Amino acid sequence: MIKSAIICSPDLWQRGHGVTHPLKPARLQRTYELLAAYGAFDGQESMLVQPRQATPEELGLFHTEEYIEAVRNLSQGGKRFNPRRYNFGPGDNPVFPEMYETEALKVGAALVAAELVASDQVGVAFSFSGGLHHAGPAHASGFCVFNDVSVAIHWLLQRSLRVAYVDIDAHHGDGVQDAFYETDRVLTISLHETGLYLFPGTGFVEELGRGAGRGYAVNLPFAPYTDDETYLWAFEEIVPPLVRRFQPDIVVSQLGVDTHYRDPLTHLCLTTSGYVAAVTTIKKLAPRWLALGGGGYDIEVVARAWTLAYGVMSGQEFPDSLPSTYAEKYGHGSLRDHEKPRISSELREQARRYAEAGVAALKRALEI
Ligand SMILES: [Zn+2]
Repeated sequence: MIKSAIICSPDLWQRGHGVTHPLKPARLQRTYELLAAYGAFDGQESMLVQPRQATPEELGLFHTEEYIEAVRNLSQGGKRFNPRRYNFGPGDNPVFPEMYETEALKVGAALVAAELVASDQVGVAFSFSGGLHHAGPAHASGFCVFNDVSVAIHWLLQRSLRVAYVDIDAHHGDGVQDAFYETDRVLTISLHETGLYLFPGTGFVEELGRGAGRGYAVNLPFAPYTDDETYLWAFEEIVPPLVRRFQPDIVVSQLGVDTHYRDPLTHLCLTTSGYVAAVTTIKKLAPRWLALGGGGYDIEVVARAWTLAYGVMSGQEFPDSLPSTYAEKYGHGSLRDHEKPRISSELREQARRYAEAGVAALKRALEI
């Protein structure tokens, strides 16, 4: 019986935002190569599945018709739409050739994963090219063109599934939160570096949902220099009780790994050990599990962390020494971190107090 699947194809990394952009397609290629070098898809219980491009109708589960058409036209070099109107331009969200095809393929990958899990063909499916949680219905944001997370959750809701969303990317999952802010059919929980210091500047504990959705949007922000110990303590205080109380049919998770201490864009200080512990808890909470990727801008860290995450999903314990075929190409090393970030006791204590205050506020507000 196949228990887990990875959704992946080289078509996902042929085109990208450009050589100077942090969201490098090589992140995906390197992850695939490391998984393949470990033989992660070779066993009886694990499979590699090809993605397909999402149709305009599927993209329309979350995005406006005009935006979908604008992305298609801009991607072909068309002039019918003003890129600025949709937040495209130099910087975070450049227009690039075949942008439509590449980004719609990422959404299709998430939908293939959702189909496999919703039909119980696998217990967990991992689409690591996705997790593009910032895109809005009619605008690009934070490197995200189409919001595969919101499209996939809408697809699951159409099948009357109850969805809990857990987002462990270092950035607030604002696009997904906004999409389901007024409904009690989706519980969104985002753990991230505080918006005081990091894009998109939202995701505070006071953001709890609106109307019927009140109490179904949850945000746990962390201060810069938060380490494994503080992060995991707070994660365990908030995430398991809320997900258990919600009783989801499926857990959708965004597994961005820009929380890592070597990440160049953020200031959290997790190691692969803390990351794997959080992913392991999500696994315990998920009756079915749709796992998506997300941020992470140190390519070498991304490949190792997502390989470890798939190890958790598929129940495989990969040897710590990187496989020789991979190591010969990219350098020798170990799969897991063996050093810890150096953080002064003062900063560590500050981060701990910030997390304690956040946890206390959420416990009061949500009666945990
Ligand atoms: Zn991020």
